[in-house]
Amino acid sequence: MDQASAANPFFEAWDTPFGAPPFDRIAAEHFRPAFARGFADHEAEIAAIAADPSPPDFENTITALERSGTVLDKVGGVFWNLTGAHTNEELQAIEREISPKAAKHFAAIGMNAALFARVDDLFARIDSLGLDPERRRVLELTHKRFVRAGARLGEAEKARLAAIVERLAQLGTRFSQNVLADEANTVIPLKAPEDLAGLPEWLVAAAREAATERGLEGHVITTSRSLIEPFLQFSTVRPLREKAYAAWIGRGESGGATDNRAIVAEMLALRAERARLLGFRTFADYKLEPTMAKTPEAVRGLLDRIWPMARARAAEERELLQQRIREEGDAFVLGPHDWRHYSAKVRAALHALDEAEIKPYLQLDRIIEASFDTATRLFGVTFRERRDVPTYHPDVRVWEMLDRDGRHLALFLGDYFARPSKRSGAWMSAFRSQHKLDGDVRPIVVNVLNFARAPEGRPTLLSFDDARTIFHEFGHALHGMLSDVTFGSISGTSVARDFVEFPSQVYEHWLMTPDVLSRFAVHAETGEPMPAALIEKVQAARNFNQGFATVEYAASAIVDMEFHALESAGDIDPAAFERDVLAGLGMPAEIAMRHRTPHFTHVFSGDGYSAGYYSYLWSEVLDADGFSAFEETGDVFDPALASRLREHVYAAGGRQDPAEAYRAFRGRDPDVDALLRKRGFLSA
Ligand SMILES: [Zn+2]
Repeated sequence: MDQASAANPFFEAWDTPFGAPPFDRIAAEHFRPAFARGFADHEAEIAAIAADPSPPDFENTITALERSGTVLDKVGGVFWNLTGAHTNEELQAIEREISPKAAKHFAAIGMNAALFARVDDLFARIDSLGLDPERRRVLELTHKRFVRAGARLGEAEKARLAAIVERLAQLGTRFSQNVLADEANTVIPLKAPEDLAGLPEWLVAAAREAATERGLEGHVITTSRSLIEPFLQFSTVRPLREKAYAAWIGRGESGGATDNRAIVAEMLALRAERARLLGFRTFADYKLEPTMAKTPEAVRGLLDRIWPMARARAAEERELLQQRIREEGDAFVLGPHDWRHYSAKVRAALHALDEAEIKPYLQLDRIIEASFDTATRLFGVTFRERRDVPTYHPDVRVWEMLDRDGRHLALFLGDYFARPSKRSGAWMSAFRSQHKLDGDVRPIVVNVLNFARAPEGRPTLLSFDDARTIFHEFGHALHGMLSDVTFGSISGTSVARDFVEFPSQVYEHWLMTPDVLSRFAVHAETGEPMPAALIEKVQAARNFNQGFATVEYAASAIVDMEFHALESAGDIDPAAFERDVLAGLGMPAEIAMRHRTPHFTHVFSGDGYSAGYYSYLWSEVLDADGFSAFEETGDVFDPALASRLREHVYAAGGRQDPAEAYRAFRGRDPDVDALLRKRGFLSA
């Protein structure tokens, strides 16, 4: 072993507690050599499987594939998490280099003819192999993955496909780095005391904190959702709201070096070509094939059903807001930068409810506790904080999750505060996934969020949206941590994309139960629990502004689907296309897409949610219908139902077809009306 590898933590077994990554010893210089060895080892392993002289069987082909690539998994698990949660210029340079290499590496495996011949041979004999259901499913999915990666193509087509995949990876990395740069560099300074007009004290403090973090004087608003949305809500300075809003929705479209429009155009053209090479009419057809929805038509069916209801509701809401403006003696027409401000006022008037009254009850630490406690009551798991596990940033907290019988189940890392080195948004990810091919390997899971931190010594206060986000991401985390399968490729959140939001979204429902709120929504100063009357008001106001929320979401989902339903995107102008689709929908002028195209990272930072942003709504049909099962029993913690939810959903990974998994939990298929009732579009 040479000097460099001797010192590289990725080449050692980790003797940290639970084998967690030794972040205190990992430095940027370790990644290039670790990736180099990871790729080389994996290539050698794949070559050995493909060249195995014995005839293919499940163990020497599928199990061997599942076991391959351990060094690559180890380094990738750390690297891809850091580039999202705590990056720097050095890591970004490595990312630009490694992401196309990784794409090329996996594309080559997917197109390895000798390897595919073995998988194909097994697949042809699947009924005679005597496989248990999980092994059968893993073989089916592996076979499909090869076919979808181009294993059946001729040599010239394979070369073209590989070039496309590699180029797409490069473009996706540039897309997200551009958004991150715009977000880090965009600040709206609040210079004069009157610029703070209307802002509650906690928001002033957060704006000061955001300035301090950037080495600036005074107060700034950034485009982080947890700052910009409350600013738009509370600020009474209309020109500043307009300026902040324009900066927020203009991310990725500045016209300078970080402009993403040309990148989007190239990505769309390449995706369409990739789908055609693989025998699909459009990229949407290709991406939807392995999902629960299966076809663009099924997705459009759901979106078309909800869009007119959402738009009609939004028009009613708009009228109320305009009326409020008139009542205040103003004559201007409601603009997109006004919606949040006036809707908060109208909500307060209609439901006698205002954010300032609620916020002191939603303390970050107590809501984290609530998310843990809900898991304890549903699944019997318990948590204890660990201070002996290395982390990648001092803000990161670590807990161990234990099963009912005290058995270790998982490590959970919580990384809650915004900082310039973190991309925006909230997500769950894993440093290590669960499987049983190498002993009982338990997962290490992280939730990354972007809350504006309270000043030193004060509790960080959340909005209801923020609190829901904690429950949402923790639902994903539980999906990873409760996983109980044999094969890593189907473990945890490795399920169909439009099913993966079900465990996270259904979990949000428990936050809003009076039972959880009365125990964990505790006033930061008085220590009093949220009064029952306030909880009732919160419940009553739940469907307020659902027209707006549904329109901004559905518009993003529809634009995403239409971009990818193009048979060819040769010389597309993404901005004009976005405009045309929205015009065709009759998009209300006062509402923007939740994510506009030039910063739509779900869809363009990688393949992840391309032709897939609809998935949240698809999963919402499941979560609305699934939670109503609990309500029907009269006990939102009903033990029998919770046990089926754990077994068939949270622990099951991709062991089953998602529609079957849902039926096993619910006893029947989901009913779309549950979603329409949840959003208040149908009466209960
Ligand atoms: Zn999610």
